[in-house]
Amino acid sequence: MDCEHMLRLINHYMDGGLSQWRNKAVDRHMEDCPPCAQHLTAHVHSRQVVASKCTEAAPEALRLRISEAIVSITLETSPVELGTNPDFLR
Ligand SMILES: [Zn+2]
Repeated sequence: MDCEHMLRLINHYMDGGLSQWRNKAVDRHMEDCPPCAQHLTAHVHSRQVVASKCTEAAPEALRLRISEAIVSITLETSPVELGTNPDFLR
């Protein structure tokens, strides 16, 4: 795995969305690549800051508008993939 591939997977890695094999590949890459390990640490820290500072729930009307925009963008860019992940709006 190269650094570019690692950085593409970093959000999925943090969300626990990778297969066990890919997860281990990311772990191994970070053991051997201090810049990517630092990048992950910065990502984790920024998520923690956002989570601690952004505790208000969005109004329902805004959530609905965002969901509709996501569906619209998804349909424009990848209509095949929408059917494979119907739970993404929940
Ligand atoms: Zn790297």
